[in-house]
Amino acid sequence: MENLLFCNFCGRKKNEITFLISGINGHICNFCIEKTYSIIHRKFSLVEEQKKTEKEDQFILKKPREIKTFLDQYVIGQEEAKKVISVAVYNHYKRIQFLSSYQKEEKKTEKIEIEKSNILLIGNTGTGKTLLAKSISKLLKIPFTIADATTLTEAGYVGEDVESILSRLLQSVNYDIHSAEKGIVFIDEIDKISRKSNNPSITRDVSGEGVQQALLKILEGSIINVPPQGGRKHPDQKMIQLNTENILFIAGGTFDGIEKIISDRINQFSSIGYLTREKKIKKEKNEHYIKNITSNDLKKFGLIPELIGRFPIITYMNPLDKIILKKILIEPKNALIKQYKKIFDMDKISMNITDEALDVIVDKTVQLGLGARGLRSFCEKLFLDYMFNIEKIQKILNVDKNIAIEKLSCL
Ligand code: ADP
Repeated sequence: MENLLFCNFCGRKKNEITFLISGINGHICNFCIEKTYSIIHRKFSLVEEQKKTEKEDQFILKKPREIKTFLDQYVIGQEEAKKVISVAVYNHYKRIQFLSSYQKEEKKTEKIEIEKSNILLIGNTGTGKTLLAKSISKLLKIPFTIADATTLTEAGYVGEDVESILSRLLQSVNYDIHSAEKGIVFIDEIDKISRKSNNPSITRDVSGEGVQQALLKILEGSIINVPPQGGRKHPDQKMIQLNTENILFIAGGTFDGIEKIISDRINQFSSIGYLTREKKIKKEKNEHYIKNITSNDLKKFGLIPELIGRFPIITYMNPLDKIILKKILIEPKNALIKQYKKIFDMDKISMNITDEALDVIVDKTVQLGLGARGLRSFCEKLFLDYMFNIEKIQKILNVDKNIAIEKLSCL
């Protein structure tokens, strides 16, 4: 009787299988259990994957004003740049949503090409270019990576291929291609690959133009073969194909000397009668020339027109004055002074710093000329001894002007 039992799913007899589980009206063998388990598992994974994509598609994008309000929490000043970026990012993601809905509707609607809105950020070092790009990626919770244009070289020279920028983006999301294809890439020091750049590197192509040419392909939106580990492409390395169509590129650079190019152009106009001499002097005194930057100025600086064309949005960062620097110390969500307060607080010490002491830090930072970058190093110097002797501080630490002058005098 025992041997007459069989699996009601596959028909195998009891002696052909390891075990049978009996139900009310039948039996199932170990082979069929394993098979159904793998079917169910696969089905669940598919459903999960589908849910994930749907969730991404439903992602409600904040309006430009809301984006700017978010940026205000992290980036002080730079009103124009924040406004421009908020609109650019909003339009970029609308473009992605349009493309995905167009694909879903099986191309019934008319396809209007909304061009990519890569952004070029021009401004002195330490004025918040990287911070701005990072804050955007924080808001949108999308992959973000920073690449340094000075390390890039044209194929055949010592250095990194431009595709390595995308390797880093892929690595940041653990090689999730779908999510990397919607990321943001910040390319720093883009001005250093300009034609006339006097970069001392002899290992790179002398003009920098080759790198600019190489960058074009990844900027415009195409399928790129990316070496997973970055570095040089090896013939035996398995490449990952990445579509850069929906990747937002933000490039930043100081463009030292570009103000002279802009001022020469403006003054040339004024000398042939567009501006009176009086107005011209006023203009020179009151405005930063960078506000008037055009594509032609960038071309004169040494960027090739094709590359400029890939950055339809050009905006600038203002130099930081004392008032802004002081605000940067105390106002942003993760302002430096808030961070030091927290560090002391963890040892149950209440740290208070006077307004005049902050002014001393700001004055020193202005002298250094590295934008807000200098703030951090002066704060470190100011607090170093206190942090080293933390156990000697009794509950309260007051830092005033004299202390700040004393601690920072040798710098
Ligand atoms: P850049 O990329 O322009 O050289 P960063 O964005 O790297 O400069 O800025 C360096 C640091 O200075 C940042 O980490 C940030 O703390 C601070 N910083 C610079 N500009 C601002 C700003 N406008 N608002 C707030 N913090 C700023």
